[in-house]
This record gives sequence, structure tokens and C-alpha cells, in this order.
Amino acid sequence: MKNTFKHTLPNESGFFGEYGGSFIPEQLQQIFDEITSAYKRITQDDEFLNELADLYEHYVGRPSPIFHAKSLSAKYGADIYMKREDLNHTGAHKINHCLGEALLAKRMGKKKLIAETGAGQHGVALATAAALLGLECDIYMGEVDIKKEHPNVVRMEILGAKVIPATHGRRTLKEAVDAAFDGYVKDPVTQFYAIGSVVGPHPFPMMVRDFQSIVGNEAKAQFQEMTGGNPNNLVACVGGGSNALGLFDAFLDDASVRMFGVEPAGRDLNQDGEHAATLTKGEPGIMHGFKSYMLQDAAGEPQEVYSVASGLDYPSVGPQHSYLKDIERMEYKTINDKEAIDAFFELSRVEGIIPAVESAHAVAYAIKMAQEGEKGTILLNLSGRGDKDIDFITELYGSDYGVTNLL
Ligand SMILES: *Cc1c(COP(=O)(O)O)cnc(C)c1O
Repeated sequence: MKNTFKHTLPNESGFFGEYGGSFIPEQLQQIFDEITSAYKRITQDDEFLNELADLYEHYVGRPSPIFHAKSLSAKYGADIYMKREDLNHTGAHKINHCLGEALLAKRMGKKKLIAETGAGQHGVALATAAALLGLECDIYMGEVDIKKEHPNVVRMEILGAKVIPATHGRRTLKEAVDAAFDGYVKDPVTQFYAIGSVVGPHPFPMMVRDFQSIVGNEAKAQFQEMTGGNPNNLVACVGGGSNALGLFDAFLDDASVRMFGVEPAGRDLNQDGEHAATLTKGEPGIMHGFKSYMLQDAAGEPQEVYSVASGLDYPSVGPQHSYLKDIERMEYKTINDKEAIDAFFELSRVEGIIPAVESAHAVAYAIKMAQEGEKGTILLNLSGRGDKDIDFITELYGSDYGVTNLL
């Protein structure tokens, strides 16, 4: 695999401008420094890079294609293309960084991968990587989410992972993070905490971005071959921000390519707790060990956040996004629940692709751009497929879209 892991940012201490870094206890800092050193070594190690490239090709099914959505384009008037990360093994982009992290953990002699999960997507991708590489896997998950996301819990257990319920507080993602952190601190030597997006203390925002950059590197070459040039616009949804940076990274130096990150406006962008639009509504602060824009309540605690898409439901965002916002290299927009659900059904019916409800936010914004007069090309990252969402979407919204619940 070509070594594309060469960047000027972050700096040695993990900062993108003023954002990022590592704000953790001394004892853990030592462990994170070891991870940083090990990561630096593997980016120079052809054997590692070739093993990862081989898994991407033969296990994940890479390269994922770019699809020219001709019907959608004709209907709305801009040329819309999609990078099909939904076609990856396990159904989303997350397998790209889970395999990288799992291979690194194995190289470091770790025995067990651990992580928290909200909707279960990161948990399933990590449990998959653990099964493949013969590592143990503990996934921490809020008791409420365990009930709501039952199929993913079953998947993780079938794959041999242990799902550990977080039973305190609101029993959702934030409590799962707390529980995973407690579990990690007990034994950071044999365990590896595999963070699920471009967030957390250094080196994770850098490392997860680098593992995801395969998406944009492929896309750039594919788009060139299909059209003879670069896309005019890139669009991706932003939860923590890994699928967005994965696609955008390869184009950051191409000044003519505009980049749009789409945040969830949920039920109401103007009411705290009813959205998760961190870059649009947040302020810089420190949370979960790194500095970035975040949504805080009056006490400085992470705000309750909400989106119909559990994968976008996070009160902070990757530090590189905060930096790209401040230097105005990326533009951040919002799409609300209703617009995302409309796009979910629209893409299903016009192109025969059922998107993840997270990815539907990107689809909705691409459609909106076209409706507002954009005539150039738009390449969006279709970060995942919607199988996981069909039950709750048809239950909540199906009747508005002519889906009769047959049960
Ligand atoms: C988890 C997830 C996201 C959000 O995570 P990012 O790190 O922002 O990419 C988006 N789409 C899908 C399908 C997901 O599973």
C-alpha cells in the first residue's frame, strides 16, 4: 500500500492549531505515548501497511465504487456522485479504522480490544476486527441502548465479543464512555481502547483520520478517471467526523474543491438538547481528553444531545474539524430529522439504495444544494447502509411514506 500517512498536522503534541492535544492523567499519558510511538513505527513498516491493504481489498471489499446517481441528478439539477462506503463488509466506513486499530493493538502485544458504543455500529465493526485477528473484545454499552439496538447486541455476541451494560445515570452513550474508561484504567497494559472516530486524546484523531484516508485517496483517483477532474463539492455527515475527514483529507490542498460537513439539527436547532450540531452551536472547550468545539450545559458538563441518527449524537467533534472551521477551509451546515428522513426514502426510491440515517443527512444536504442552484458536481460520502435503521424508521415515520407495517 502506498504510504499516504504524511501530514503536517497535527504537531508533535497532537494539536491542530489550538485544538486536540491530550488532557489525561499522567499514568494514562505514558500509555498513550506508547501508542503514538507504535503508530509512528507502523506507518513506516511495509509489512504492516501491506497486511492492512490486503485486508481492505480481500476482507472489506475495497476499493468501494463511486456511483453516479443519474436519476437523482436529473431530478434535482446538480451532478451527484456517491462514494459507496455502505458496500463495505459490516456496512459502513467504521471497519476501515477498526481494522487499523486492531492490527496496531496486536502488534503492540495487546490481548483485548475495548470500546464504548452508542447504536452499536462501532461495537460491531470492532468485534468483527477482533474476531478476525484473534483478540478478545469488550464493548461497553448503556442499558437503554442495549434494549433499543438489540440486533447489534446480538451481532456482537455472535462475533464473540462481551457486551457490558452501563447501568448508571441515563444509561446511554455518555455512561458507556465512563464505564469503558473505568474498565480501561484498570488495565491499560493488556487492553487497547479503540476509539471510534477522529476524537479523543492524541494520537487518535490523527490515527483514525489516517486509517480513513483510504476513502478520499480512492475517491480522488476514481473521480479523476470518471470525469477527468476533481469534484466541485464534497459532502459528508459529521458525528465525530471520521467519514468526513476520510473523504476530505485527500482534497484539502485542492483549493477549488469546496467541502461541506453536515451536522444534525435534530428536532430543533434553537433548543438545547434537541440537536447535536456541535460546530454550528458549540464553543471551544475540553472534554473526554481533548480540546474542540463542544456543546456544554451551564455547569460546563457535556450537554444532552439528540439526533434521529444515533451515530451523529455526540456533544463534541474531532479537533481537526474545529481547526478547519476556524481557518474556513470547511463549511458546516445542518440538516434536521425531517429532512434526513425525507432523503432516506428519496434515495431508496429514486436510486434503490437504502442509506444509513446518518448518511441520509449528507444526501439531504446534497439535494438541498442542488435545489438552491448548485450546478457543479457533488461527491458525497455514503458512509453506511440503512439495514440497521429500517425497523425504527418504519415504526416512527413509515405511514408518512406509504410503508405499511405488516406485523
Ligand atoms: C458512526 C457513523 C457515522 C458518524 O461517525 P463519523 O465519525 O462522524 O463518521 C456516520 N455514518 C455512519 C453510517 C456511522 O455508522
